[in-house]
Amino acid sequence: VTAVMWFRRDLRLADNPALLDAVAAGDGRVLGLFVLDPALWDRSGDPRRAHLAASLRSLSASMDGRLVVRRGDPATVVPAVADAIGAASVHVSADHAPYGQRRDHAVEASLTCPLVRTGSPYAVAPGRVLNQQGRSYQVFTPYFKAWLAHGWRQPVGAPDGVEWIAADGDELPHGSEVAGEQAALERWQAYLDDVAAYDDERDRPDLDSTSRMSVPLKYGEIHPRTMLADLARKRSTGAEAYRRELAWREFCADLLARYPDAAWKPLRPEFERMRYDEPGELFDAWREGRTGFPFVDAGMRQLAATGFLHNRVRMVVASFLVKDLHVHWRFGARWFLRSLRDGDLASNSLNWQWVAGCGADAAPYFRIFNPVGQGLKFDPEGDYVRRWVPELRHLAGRAAHEPWKHGGADGYPAPVVDHAEARREALRRYDAIR
Ligand code: FAD
Repeated sequence: VTAVMWFRRDLRLADNPALLDAVAAGDGRVLGLFVLDPALWDRSGDPRRAHLAASLRSLSASMDGRLVVRRGDPATVVPAVADAIGAASVHVSADHAPYGQRRDHAVEASLTCPLVRTGSPYAVAPGRVLNQQGRSYQVFTPYFKAWLAHGWRQPVGAPDGVEWIAADGDELPHGSEVAGEQAALERWQAYLDDVAAYDDERDRPDLDSTSRMSVPLKYGEIHPRTMLADLARKRSTGAEAYRRELAWREFCADLLARYPDAAWKPLRPEFERMRYDEPGELFDAWREGRTGFPFVDAGMRQLAATGFLHNRVRMVVASFLVKDLHVHWRFGARWFLRSLRDGDLASNSLNWQWVAGCGADAAPYFRIFNPVGQGLKFDPEGDYVRRWVPELRHLAGRAAHEPWKHGGADGYPAPVVDHAEARREALRRYDAIR
């Protein structure tokens, strides 16, 4: 017998229960498949494509070079590959996002053998954490408590002695950045030494002290279960704070699985009536880091240059787009998905909804970030701003956050809006839908 392991968001061999099931079903003879699905690939931005390509190369190297990559519609490709080797079953880890669900149903309908779903990219699969009435949670804190109480299984090792079945495939896309399971584990192990400080330092983009594990998590180069098991051994407030952030990731996925429309539509229905402005020149200024607000511009330039953005700055630039420029969060969310290396529909859309005030458990709408105050607080010496906005490098310390108070800066724009007025306008629009 043989089996197919269809890799998707689980590009690793260790702690991969679906792979263990494939190895058991195929009696050690497994064909490892990745389908480059144009519906996903063509929509991803360059940073995500580059990382995926590198990650696939790394995965294939750990499988004696035998990962079979095929380009096409999974509903055609997967059955063809399974039939060609007479596979007894096709194994996947479950996908709960809207497109993944539809795709998997279509594949299942055209397969002549079973599609077996084992595990998911989460410690607790979406839909599993339920309240006393059997419903999913709308608010994070009770979700978090129930998530902890639910618990998760211990990590499992990589399978031994797999005979990877060779087959024709398309050429692997090019990718040269550091990626893959081994790199993810090394990054994680190195970060664990510092996790005690996470609680105190995570809000400081100038310190760059967060783990940057969102990328390996996005591609499943590591499973959160592995990370949670390591964190449990640490017993520090930093480790606990980190665990809570992993739970946010799971909460987002849980919400999106329950409300697939939440990808692009507000969870709070009254926000359907919210008045937004068309994304015009101000939207371009935001995307290009030319708003005249140094903290916002530093963030948008970091995003464009590196495909990464610190969480605090994500919140500030998102809030600025929605509440200072009055542009619909959907446009910002789309730009983020294209630009971020960790771009993930669930985490992205639900966080945008949180910032825009229309999410299930959102920040109260009237609490509007002050883009200058946030910079002064979380980049107290101005180092982050100077790193990304060269026009402000001549301004020492905190002055970099308020160039207009220090004679301005050559080639750097004046603020594109008056924050106080923009804030009042946001509140007026909110009053109209309440
Ligand atoms: P760390 O601070 O080291 O956190 C550890 C892990 O916890 C992260 O890797 C991530 O998996 C998880 N996590 C932390 N904060 C959140 C959060 N607020 N929501 C969900 N998971 C979280 N994260 C993505 O992975 N993909 C996205 O597309 C994405 N879009 C976002 C859009 C906006 C507007 C905002 C405000 C946040 C978004 N986030 C997204 C969440 C968060 O900003 C990133 O996960 C985090 O900045 C990644 O850096 P890190 O790995 O160093 O984080």
